[in-house]
Amino acid sequence: LFITFEGIDGAGKTTQVKRLASALEAAGVDVVCTREPGGTKLGDEIRALLLSRDNQTMTPRTEALLYAASRAQHVEEVILPSLEAGKVVLCDRFVDASIAYQGGGLGLGEQAVARLNEFAVNGVIPDVTILFELPVEDARKRLCQSRGTSQLDRIEARDAAYFSRVQAIFAKLAEREQERIHAVDARLPVDALEQEIYHIVWKYIRI
Ligand code: C5P
Ligand code: MG
Repeated sequence: LFITFEGIDGAGKTTQVKRLASALEAAGVDVVCTREPGGTKLGDEIRALLLSRDNQTMTPRTEALLYAASRAQHVEEVILPSLEAGKVVLCDRFVDASIAYQGGGLGLGEQAVARLNEFAVNGVIPDVTILFELPVEDARKRLCQSRGTSQLDRIEARDAAYFSRVQAIFAKLAEREQERIHAVDARLPVDALEQEIYHIVWKYIRI
């Protein structure tokens, strides 16, 4: 079972992925918890390139290709072998993030980024996706409170208009793929949100 977590920066995905992993492990489920960009040694090196504020000259196409490259490595080295071993894979961001961020945010177009990623993932697609919904202003506030503006990475430091474009694509994907994508309200208290996500996921685990 392959489960991904999506939403704009500051929505609280990382906290919830960790909590879900612990809860599933406690229930005896064999869980692999991973994230993108990164998830492998090579992927983490690509992540550093993508997030470094030194790389201000990176072009949108280069950016899309680097995310896709990190993902290709991640799929072959971690995700596919884990799925084949019967494990439940929890992944903090996947293809939807690229469609939203590079396709919508950077304006490369959803179709172009989707095609690039079809090549990268070679047929591996999530069974379930949890989409964290939160107004852009709230997400910005959370990010700046938890880390301070100077600590934001190259992408988090982009403006609110960029994140609104990203958000709009996520909403569109959720509308289009209601079977797979479950939207949750990221403004809920952490414990309540944890419960909600657990209930969504548990239905798939029992099947
Ligand atoms: O989820 P996390 O905050 O670790 O992601 C690292 C950065 O990469 C974030 O700023 C996120 O917005 C960005 N990102 C992106 N496109 C993706 C995946 C992540 O721009 N496909
Ligand atoms: Mg982030």
